[in-house]
Amino acid sequence: MRSNFAFYFFNSPYEDPVLYVEQLNSRDNLVFDLGDVSKVPNSLLMRIKWVFISHAHIDHFCGFVKFLRTILKIVGKEVYVFGPEGIADNVEGVLKSFTWNLIDNYNIKFYVKEIGSRIKTYFFSSSEKFSKELISESDFTDLILDEESFLVKTSIMDHKIPVLGFRLEEKNRYAVDKERLLAFELKPGKWLTDVKKKLIKDEIDDYIKVDNKVFKIRELVESKILFLKKAPSHAYITDIGFTKDNFIKACSLSKDVKNLFIETHFTHKEIDMARKTYHLTAYQAGIIAGASRAERVRIFHFSQRYIKNKIGEKELYYELNKARSLFGYNF
Ligand SMILES: [Zn+2]
Repeated sequence: MRSNFAFYFFNSPYEDPVLYVEQLNSRDNLVFDLGDVSKVPNSLLMRIKWVFISHAHIDHFCGFVKFLRTILKIVGKEVYVFGPEGIADNVEGVLKSFTWNLIDNYNIKFYVKEIGSRIKTYFFSSSEKFSKELISESDFTDLILDEESFLVKTSIMDHKIPVLGFRLEEKNRYAVDKERLLAFELKPGKWLTDVKKKLIKDEIDDYIKVDNKVFKIRELVESKILFLKKAPSHAYITDIGFTKDNFIKACSLSKDVKNLFIETHFTHKEIDMARKTYHLTAYQAGIIAGASRAERVRIFHFSQRYIKNKIGEKELYYELNKARSLFGYNF
């Protein structure tokens, strides 16, 4: 099934991680990490509603300042930030860096969820000059966002500090069997979109009028005119050491995904550096991709030294795919 999302890296893989995720059926978008966002058009920054921060090292979070500057005057804007323990302090730190005596007309709110053994939600509002307020607290659960058409799960991994990996799951959707439609002498039209919307809302016992005939939605499903189709999932993993625990968690996040976005910070020759800094080599990323049966893999977050050393995508993809081939991938 086609994905409802489009994925963009505006930076080169040597630059800061920012994975911009556009929803094709909505104006509200997502972003995974907010490093330098100077190449992301303002019009797209303004459409971000959900921000997922793996950890607050500067190359993953420095873009929050420009993001804040860009969205500040959008009346009624609400932003949801998800990050590891301490992320509310990081957001507060940015907000406290500025003077806010002239923002009476602004109407912007941040909900910041800290994901640790407890999940704490903090609230920052322009009407309160962005003072920090704890508004809810609950036990850890891997499901951190549940929207009408998708959900986001997380796992806390180890980068010498807690780092979050993310899995974006699209919810299964109803599709139309055109042959069955013809067999019932029905014409395609807007009514099918209405039926799909009702099915998403679980209103299967409602009725719908088609060409002056009335159908129960349940009948349309039972006669297989509409059927449930499995939707794809995607994963974003960066800045993890190749430990047993991280490996298990990374494979579970990326299990059977259509798109895996994974760091390949080093070549495998530099495995000692990778061990020291808790980053992945391209070969290790390939082991994770292969073991989790990821369909497509996109690599990013290369060591900046590789610009000078002329190590690029070709070498890193070769190493990645060599590891994936152990699991039956042909390249
Ligand atoms: Zn880092």
